Formats: sequence, structure tokens, C-alpha cells
Amino acid sequence: MKKPIHELVVPQVLRLQSYVPGKPIEEVERELGIHAIKMASNENPLGPSPKAVEAIIRFLPQANRYPDGSGYYLREKLATRLGISMDEIILGAGSTELIELVARTFATPADEVVSSEGSFVMYSVAAQEVGAKLLLAPLRSHTYDLDAVAERLSERTRVVYLANPNNPTGTMFPADAFDRFLRRVPDDVLVVLDEAYYEYVESPNYSRSLDYVRERRHLLVLRTFSKVYGLAGLRIGYGIGHPELIACLNRVRSPFNTTAVSQVAALAALDDAEHVAKSLANNRAGLRALSEGLMTLGATFLSSVANFLLVFTEESAEEEYEALLRQGVIVRPLRKFGYPRAFRVAVGKPEENEKFLEALKTVRQARSSRVGRVRAT
Ligand SMILES: *Cc1c(COP(=O)(O)O)cnc(C)c1O
Repeated sequence: MKKPIHELVVPQVLRLQSYVPGKPIEEVERELGIHAIKMASNENPLGPSPKAVEAIIRFLPQANRYPDGSGYYLREKLATRLGISMDEIILGAGSTELIELVARTFATPADEVVSSEGSFVMYSVAAQEVGAKLLLAPLRSHTYDLDAVAERLSERTRVVYLANPNNPTGTMFPADAFDRFLRRVPDDVLVVLDEAYYEYVESPNYSRSLDYVRERRHLLVLRTFSKVYGLAGLRIGYGIGHPELIACLNRVRSPFNTTAVSQVAALAALDDAEHVAKSLANNRAGLRALSEGLMTLGATFLSSVANFLLVFTEESAEEEYEALLRQGVIVRPLRKFGYPRAFRVAVGKPEENEKFLEALKTVRQARSSRVGRVRAT
């Protein structure tokens, strides 16, 4: 071979900054030799629905068979649940696969993709993968500024990605703000409304997601089984949109993108209303406990409608992240999300929330005595 392999790679891939996921528990325990708890990836701390676990085990002897690539039964159940038709639903290996599928289906290097700063990194990754130009509007008061997003639309814009609630800020935009925004967006721009935390939001003015799908052909709502349903490890999510849009996305989707195991698990999880209710109750209580604990510590944080909190740090995000890690608590430093002085902590079980607050207290006390010593000398 005359050329080194990296010279053969397409240019947009070389420019790609890859997604850095939260640190796995096993890695921390291996490296530091301590017991760790993970509050870095907004997972359901109660685990999957026990019904889903049973369904998975019952299914495993058939794992030699290819999955139903169309996910018939899961789409059927979702359609019934949502009061829409099956051909308005596409399944993905997590909703992040659908984020990428959208970019591959609708954007080329000649096109533009618009989203926001301080939001989910996968939107940028998806745009960069296809070489599209990415425009990011600034946040306003740590919330999506839909006017600023609309101002960045041009004739070249093909896709707009919006996270509602937003990750990592935990903030949301209300339905009427989105209505106004949609009126400003030309029909030929695909609006992707990422509602990964949909189930957690209690605000009555949150989202009229399905109305938007009914009213607009070129709009995709994303939901996932990774968060409240506790199936992040199985990789399954879905998109809701007009049948024509779904049909186009299906052309690009690989035929067996979701596994048979994830499909049966998702089906069972949908039927476990009790586990969802328990998870939501744990989250509500956890958000309150964390907020109260953070206030007691004098920490600054954003109030959240999802299952995590953005906490501002006094030193760099990495320093506090590393210090917390040494206390056995994994959070997510947010520099890559546009917050160099903040981390994100996911709501855990009551004892995990307490351990996190204890760890943060230790870390901040150690720092203030260090800073105090430096000042005194
Ligand atoms: C967690 C999350 C998702 C879900 O990703 P999956 O691929 O479904 O696990 C999607 N969007 C945002 C903004 C998220 O925070």
C-alpha cells in the first residue's frame, strides 16, 4: 500500500470529533480499585422493568433467528398506545441511530444543519459525518432560543435538531414557543424534535408532539427506551413522523438495525406501567433531594424537568469530575457540551444521591481549605 490508511479516509470523517460517552463503572473500578456509582449517563437507576428481563430470558433460546427487521409487534403496540398508524413509526438502535439516519437521508456537504450550542453532541456528529455545514445558535438563559435557531435557517438548511428537554441543561421550551417557531420554518426543512426525556416532563404546556406530526409532513419526533424504560444497554428507540418521511428513512435504515432481544424487551417494558410509575416517583424525589442537598452546599445548578441536573463548578469541570471520581462517583464533565465549568449528574437511587452529595461536600471542602491555605501564604 502506497498511502497510509488515514489518507484514504473521506475528509469529513477525518474532521469528525467523536462522541465521548460517560465512563463505564468497570473502567473506574479497574483503574482506581474502588467501588463506583455511575451518575453520568442519565440511565434509569432502578434498572430495566423486571417484566422486560423475564421476556428477554424467555426469548433467548430463539436468538439464532434474525430479528423481524420491521419490528412489527413493537410498532403495532406503539401505534395503538399513541393512537397513530404503524407506518408512522420507525425503530432505531437507540434514537441516536435515527439522528444519524436523518442526516444521511437529507443532508449532503452542500447543505446546512442547524441546532444549538450547549446541546446533545450527536447532532453535531451526525452533521459532520455527512460533511454538512453545521450552524449552532446560542442558548438563552441555558434554554434553547428558538428565535436564534430560526435566524440561522437559510435556503441551504435541510435539517434542524432540537432537544426538548435539552441535554445537558435539563431545561425545556413550551409548546407555544415551538408553535411560533414552526411558523417560521419553511416546509422543506426537516425538524427533528428529540424527546428522549418525554416521560419525565410534568409541565402541562410541554409538547403537542403528535399534533405536530399530524400537521406537518416534514417533522420527526424521537423517543427512546434508554431513559425511563431502563433499556439503554439494549439500544432501542423510535421516531414518529409522516408515513412518507418514515418510508424515506427506511430506505437508509439497515435491515436488522434493532435486535430481536431489544424488541421483546421494549414490548414488555411498555406493559410495565408499575415500573414506569416507580421510576418517575424515584426521579421526582431524587430531583428534590439533589436540589436541596446542592442548595445546602451552596452549589449553583439549573432546575431541571428531566432526570439529571447541570451543576456549575468553581474550578474546571475536569478537576471536579476527577475529584468526584476518586470518591467513587462518576458524573459527566460538560466541556464538550459547551460548559467548561459544569458537570451533569443523573438522578440515582436515594442512597446514590446521598453518596454523591457527600462526595461533592468532601471535594468542595478540600478545595476551599486548599484555596484558603494558598491565600494565607
Ligand atoms: C439520552 C438521549 C438520547 C437517547 O439516546 P439513545 O440512542 O436512544 O440511547 C437522545 N437524545 C438525547 C438528547 C439524549 O439525552
